[in-house]
Amino acid sequence: FPSKQAQVQTTIFTRMSALAAEHGALNLSQGFPGFDCSEELQALLAFYSKGHNQYAPMAGVPVFKQSIADKTCLFYGIDIDANKEVTVVSGATEALFCAIHCCVFPGDEVIMFDPSYDAYDPAVRLAGGIPIHLSMDAQNGFQIDWEGLARSITPKTRAIMVNSPHNPTGSIWTENDLDALAEIVKGTNILIISDEVYEHIVFDGKKHYSVLLHPELRQRSFVCGSFGKTYHITGWKIGYCLAPEYLTKEFQKLHQWVTFSSATPLQHALSDYLKEPDHYLGLSNFYQRKRDLFASAFEGSKWKLLPSHGSFFQCMDYREISDEKDVDLAERLTKEIKVASIPISVFYEKAPGDTILRFCFAKSDEVLLEAAHRLVQL
Ligand code: PMP
Ligand code: GLN
Repeated sequence: FPSKQAQVQTTIFTRMSALAAEHGALNLSQGFPGFDCSEELQALLAFYSKGHNQYAPMAGVPVFKQSIADKTCLFYGIDIDANKEVTVVSGATEALFCAIHCCVFPGDEVIMFDPSYDAYDPAVRLAGGIPIHLSMDAQNGFQIDWEGLARSITPKTRAIMVNSPHNPTGSIWTENDLDALAEIVKGTNILIISDEVYEHIVFDGKKHYSVLLHPELRQRSFVCGSFGKTYHITGWKIGYCLAPEYLTKEFQKLHQWVTFSSATPLQHALSDYLKEPDHYLGLSNFYQRKRDLFASAFEGSKWKLLPSHGSFFQCMDYREISDEKDVDLAERLTKEIKVASIPISVFYEKAPGDTILRFCFAKSDEVLLEAAHRLVQL
């Protein structure tokens, strides 16, 4: 069979979770909570599973789109038109795919910053676009090299992928980053595809700077969101895309052929749940405590923890422990000490030879402490 995607591998998340299951390892690899969503949300779903079981409107259930617009307005202090600027999708993965495919013409360049989330590059290639990978430097806190970005812009640059809080590094953008990006794209037709699925997980009193907050960026951005990380429901696969009307129209032309619409009962349940801000405002503190608990178990060890300012990932440098490649070490640790992680070289076009593994701390305290206990003994 002539494979259309001969060079494409199964994702690292599928591979590491399968390896973890095979070896009975503690799974700190694929990013999903090791605990359930709230009983209140479960009850809402049970309630709305009666009488709401047929197709939702293509762009989303109207009350849900309104709840998303209201919540965005409350959280960021900006107005969103629920009818013209919101599309409900089956997970941020779909939002990213549709955003890329609705605007990238064959031969267009799309810039992304490595380490970059693994869904971006293949979606650009499938659209006939050319991914342009710019590296962020671990030594420099994975900050973006703005001059390097400015130099990489060409007449073919169609879009720039941004992601804050960042997977896999946990770095976050500042207001200066928004300004720097705005300065570079001003006066061009370049679009922004902003992956903000960890918008509610930011630590140490810091703030999430959405591209929605910057008028120059907002008018050219697709903002991809997900409820998976915010409400501990990665298995529901439901999210949204916020974009100005002219982009939302194009986005929906794609979305209608990809999934048409997303699961109806989920939309009704989340629509009610979203109305209570406490359901997401406490999330940063919840995960900060887990980050700190996990980190404290490595004090005095040979692991060097990189700063995690947001998301639920902790990157750790193992150079004093092993000189293996990260892919090999991640596999060996899964098999031998039964702790699974993600090697971050997989998020690069050209891996820089760093010695860093990513651990997901969205797990019970017991699992985190047991994983740390095994890791510090290396
Ligand atoms: N972007 C990033 C950075 C992610 O970590 C994830 C995984 N939650 C996604 C997109 C995909 O989100 P979803 O599960 O809603 O498709
Ligand atoms: N976003 C999750 C992670 O980074 C994985 C999602 C998936 O498996 N597609 O681990």
